[in-house]
Amino acid sequence: MDKESCNIWDDACKQLKGILSRDIYDRWIAVIKCIEISGTNMRLAVANDFYKDWLEENYFPMIRKAVMVVSGKEIDISLEVDSSCFGNDHSQPAPEPSFSSISIPNPFEKRQSNHNLNPNYTFDSYVVGAANQFAHAAAMAAANSPSRTYNPLFIYGGVGLGKTHLMQAIGNHVVSKKPRSKVCYITCETFTNEYIDALQNNNVSAFRKKYRKIDLLMIDDIQFLDGKQRLQEEFFHTFNTLFESHKQIVLTSDRTPSEMAGLAPRLISRFEWGLVTELGKPDVETRTAILRKKADLLNLNVGHELLDYLAERVSSNVRSLEGALIRVATFMSLTNQKVDIQKVEELLHDLLDKESQATVNVEIIQRTVAEHFDLRQSDILSKKRSKDIAWPRQIAMHLSRTMTNQSFPVIGEQFSRNHATILYAHDQVSTKARDDRGLQQTLAILKDKVNKNCAKASS
Ligand code: ADP
Ligand code: MG
Repeated sequence: MDKESCNIWDDACKQLKGILSRDIYDRWIAVIKCIEISGTNMRLAVANDFYKDWLEENYFPMIRKAVMVVSGKEIDISLEVDSSCFGNDHSQPAPEPSFSSISIPNPFEKRQSNHNLNPNYTFDSYVVGAANQFAHAAAMAAANSPSRTYNPLFIYGGVGLGKTHLMQAIGNHVVSKKPRSKVCYITCETFTNEYIDALQNNNVSAFRKKYRKIDLLMIDDIQFLDGKQRLQEEFFHTFNTLFESHKQIVLTSDRTPSEMAGLAPRLISRFEWGLVTELGKPDVETRTAILRKKADLLNLNVGHELLDYLAERVSSNVRSLEGALIRVATFMSLTNQKVDIQKVEELLHDLLDKESQATVNVEIIQRTVAEHFDLRQSDILSKKRSKDIAWPRQIAMHLSRTMTNQSFPVIGEQFSRNHATILYAHDQVSTKARDDRGLQQTLAILKDKVNKNCAKASS
């Protein structure tokens, strides 16, 4: 095959690797071979019908999109079964290691015990606040009287907000009270892979038996079922069997059942039979309490002032908050140094930048800039052209571009201007700031104020 064809497919694979989890990539994408590209046709091959069906059913649109993105054109892709390309064992070269940065292991995420439960994820170590008290109470009820309160219990919420922790707390609680009960925690991804293995090895009856005799079944990240019809069908029957025999089912997801567009209506309605409950973002007091608890559990000697600072600055999710604490504590123990807030800012600058980008919005920038220049926000949005208004307005436009990840047209809409006006303002301010110390200082002060206002708004 010519070099260009190889490159397109290799580049598409790189794209897919960035989107899919390692497991899925290895299982489904690394097994595809590109046999030819000619003009706008691409021929891909897999070793057997099973791969072909599954890929077509689940990953084809994604593959098509990746190929289109890297080639810059619409390409017709056909997927063929051609076992001759794959030798006897159908094996593929191992994919390259991922390039993600080296991370410090998170001691809270150690997984142990034969139920696949992390022993640290208990109700005791879970901090309750306004955003999670209802979900917490429901989880406690399900743990204390499985299948008699909320069945299924469906917990949904954003990434890193404590779904897995709360779900496993139910499991740990049940195991501690009734060590003989059959408790199973599994991610939906692993559940899927086991099912596929069972299909491939003609072992589906063993798979069914395993999952249909469990007392407490917890499936994490059930949104993974979205759009996978065969798997939904299988899960539907497992669900019914367990439900009818009064076994507790707990599910988590990043969205509500009805927001899963590719979920069969009969599953949506079953997921809604019990209780659907949300985990929200914790407020600053809860974040502080979580950090204190984590620092205690890990015996970390980090002063309260620093913990409060982290809780204030890292508001997007608890996982990032925990990551920040662990980074600071690791630095302290490796260097034997106490750290101050300035040092923390240096250590965590990438994380803090991401936090600001996640929370900064144009509206807060407009308000902050108006306040700073003693104007009203409506002046910033008005058509007035006097210099004492036009210049702050341009500064607000420039900050909107540099402090949020938004495009010029999107920012334009929020100023009721077109994208060219924002682009022009951004250029004007950037050019002037290059050799105007006063302006540099003003921008630094404004950024700081914007960040503070954002932290206030999100807590
Ligand atoms: P999710 O499953 O929603 O992505 P996790 O359950 O994995 O989130 O939580 C991420 C981290 O944050 C875990 O280490 C967990 O212990 C911690 N965490 C989240 N919420 C809380 C809380 N309310 N109290 C204590 N720790 C929490
Ligand atoms: Mg989770």
